[in-house]
Amino acid sequence: MEELKTKIRQEGIVIGNDVLKVDSFLNHQIDPKLMKAIGREFAKRFEGCLITKILTVESSGIAPAMSVAHELSVPVVYAKKTSSRITDADVYESNVFSFTKNKKYKIRVSRKFITKDDCVLIIDDFLANGQAILGLYEIITKSGASFAGAGIVIEKGFQGGGDMLRKMGIRVESLAIVENMSETKILFK
Ligand code: 5GP
Repeated sequence: MEELKTKIRQEGIVIGNDVLKVDSFLNHQIDPKLMKAIGREFAKRFEGCLITKILTVESSGIAPAMSVAHELSVPVVYAKKTSSRITDADVYESNVFSFTKNKKYKIRVSRKFITKDDCVLIIDDFLANGQAILGLYEIITKSGASFAGAGIVIEKGFQGGGDMLRKMGIRVESLAIVENMSETKILFK
């Protein structure tokens, strides 16, 4: 998606050699016009898949997920990273290793929001090693729902998560795949 690549080139900040900071339009401040275009693009790519739910993980996945959900007129469900007194007890859980925080955490989704009658599309902001998508996929498998695939805003192709998921037979659609990046240059596939 050219509009997204241009925005990444203009505003993306590379930290070290494997973290891309895009907090001016996706991870802190959010660009609604770009989010709308992202939603439209995912809806086009997964057209005809009879999707009934969008699944993401809080918090950065929610904006693009909401945009696709609006295009497809289906609800968004986001996996929670923390539990509290108001969290449902009846949940599907999975463990995820966080690339950015370098630690393991648990994600949970109430059983009442994903059922075996659903066809689920996963949306997330970034794909690095693929652990977040695997955790969400595990929740879908536990629920017995059908799985349409994963839509990713930015895939860092050099980290291998996308290749691993595709080898598993998972459909992964990424709007921008970064092949290589440094503080001065970001190259796309
Ligand atoms: P994975 O589980 O694929 O290793 O990492 C994906 C998750 O880590 C995403 O949900 C995203 O929140 C975060 N993440 C991974 N790499 C980056 C990055 O370069 N920049 C930002 N902002 N988040 C990232």
